[in-house]
Amino acid sequence: MVKKLEIDWTRCDGHGLCATLLGDDVVLDEWGFPVLSGRPVTAGEMTNARRAVLACPALALRLGDV
Ligand code: SF4
Repeated sequence: MVKKLEIDWTRCDGHGLCATLLGDDVVLDEWGFPVLSGRPVTAGEMTNARRAVLACPALALRLGDV
């Protein structure tokens, strides 16, 4: 099933780790909060995407269905 990155804004603290790990899909806005590309995660990117989800210190990043 095709997945895309999502952020739970009730949890995200703007640590920015996701942008460091997924620079092609996440940039930070002027306040340090992530802006997602919104595109589907390709099969080749899935491992890195899962790592970023697990690394999010606020448990705010997740992979949702497209
Ligand atoms: S790593 Fe998690 S808490 Fe930090 S900016 Fe990304 S989604 Fe938000």
